Amino acid sequence: MKNQRSISLFKKANKLIPGGVNSPVRAFRAVGGNPLFIEKAKGSKIFDVDGNSYIDYVLSWGPMILGHAHPQIVKAIKESASKGTSFGAPTSKEIELAQLIQKAFPSIEKIRMVNSGTEATMSAIRVARGFTKRDKIIKFEGSYHGHADGLLVKAGSGATTFGVPDSPGVPKDYAINTITLPFNNIKLFKEVVKNNYKEISAVIVEPVIGNMGCILPIDGFLQILREETERYGIVLIFDEVMTGFRVSYGGAQAFYKIKPDITCLGKVIGGGLPVGAYGGKKEIMSMVAPEGPVYQAGTLSGNPIAMSAGIATLKELSKKETYISLENKANLLEQSLKEACEKVGVKTRFYRAGTMFCTYFTEIDVVDYETAKSSDTKIFSLFFKELLSRGVYIAPSQFEAGFISLSHSTEDIKKTKTAVYNSLKRIK
Ligand SMILES: *Cc1c(COP(=O)(O)O)cnc(C)c1O
Repeated sequence: MKNQRSISLFKKANKLIPGGVNSPVRAFRAVGGNPLFIEKAKGSKIFDVDGNSYIDYVLSWGPMILGHAHPQIVKAIKESASKGTSFGAPTSKEIELAQLIQKAFPSIEKIRMVNSGTEATMSAIRVARGFTKRDKIIKFEGSYHGHADGLLVKAGSGATTFGVPDSPGVPKDYAINTITLPFNNIKLFKEVVKNNYKEISAVIVEPVIGNMGCILPIDGFLQILREETERYGIVLIFDEVMTGFRVSYGGAQAFYKIKPDITCLGKVIGGGLPVGAYGGKKEIMSMVAPEGPVYQAGTLSGNPIAMSAGIATLKELSKKETYISLENKANLLEQSLKEACEKVGVKTRFYRAGTMFCTYFTEIDVVDYETAKSSDTKIFSLFFKELLSRGVYIAPSQFEAGFISLSHSTEDIKKTKTAVYNSLKRIK
C-alpha cells in the first residue's frame, strides 16, 4: 500500500494544526501509523490521496447513512448553494426539516437547530437546568456527549463520587455538577437518584452507547431511567446524535419505546453537513430564547445548505423498504464477521443496533465501560492495520462504533468477510 502523499501531508499538517487533525481520533494515535488523507468518496468507498480505495465503515463517524456523494444530496446542496449560502434570517427549509424530524420522533414537540452534536447536548442541559432550577446532571461512564466542559467528566475512585474533570482546562467547579454512573447498573442509578434528586436537573444518556464501541442497554434499564426521572421531576435527555435514524428511523426511542423529555440529534440529520438539533416537550422547549429566558443562539444555525442536505437525506431514508434493506445489509455483515472470527478461532463479542456495531476482542459480555475495557486493544491495532492494507477502513480505535450504509453492496460485505478472515489469520 502506497501512502507517501498521506505521510507528507500529515507532516505539513502537524506544523499547523494540533496533532495534524481537526478532531483527535482522526490522528490514528490509538492504533499507531499515519492517517489517510482523503481525496474523495463515492457510495461505500473512500479514496485517499495516494490512489488507494477502501470500503468505508467509518462513514464520517456516522452521518453518511446513504453512502458518500449520494446524487440526491449533491443535487440538493448545489441547488441550495446557488441561491445563497447563508442569510441569518429564517427560511422555509428549517420548518421542512423540523417537520421531517418530528414525524420520526413524536416526542419532539418543538425543536431548535444548531451546528453540531456538542451544541445540541450543551444547550439541552442548559434548558433542563433552567426548567428544573437544579444544577447537577447524571451521565454514564464511557459515553460521549460532545466536548462541552461539564460533559468532559468521569467518575472519581468511587463510582458515585462527584465528577473530576477529564481534561485540563475544565474548571473543577463545573465538574462537581456532573455525577457519573456505570451504564446498565439499575440499582446504583436508583439509589443515587433517590438520594440526590433535589439537586438533579437532568439525566443524559446515549440509549445505545456508540462512543465506547457499541453497547446495548440491558432489559429494563431505559424504562427505569424513564420511570425514576418522571417520579422525581428530572429531565430525561436521550442523546441520539449517533443513534438517531441509525438504530431505526425513529432512533433508539422508537426501537425501545421510551419517550424522553428532550432528544439531541446530529450526524445523519445533516447529511454530511454540520447540523445538530435538540427538541422535546413543549413546556421545556418554550424556555428557549426568544420564547423563554434560556439563551441559546447561532449565526449559522439552520443554515440553508445544511437544511437542504438534511431534508434530502431524511426524504431518501423515509422511502419504503429503506430500513428493511439497511437491516438486511447490517445483518449480513454481522453474520459474515461472526463467521470469519469463528473460522479463525478468535474469541470476540459482537454487538449491533440497526446499522451501528462493534466487535470487541474479549471473552466477557460487554455491558459498560469496565467490561468494554477488557477488549484486547493490541489485537485491535493489528487487526485495524491488516484490514486497512486489504482495502477495508474501520475506525482507528476499538472504542468507536462501525457503521454501514445503504450503498454497501453484498459484494462489499463478501470482500470484507474475506479481508477479516485473512487479517485475523495473519495476526493469530
Ligand atoms: C458525535 C456525538 C456527539 C457530538 O457531536 P459533534 O457533532 O461531534 O459535536 C454527541 N453525542 C453523541 C452520542 C455523539 O455520537
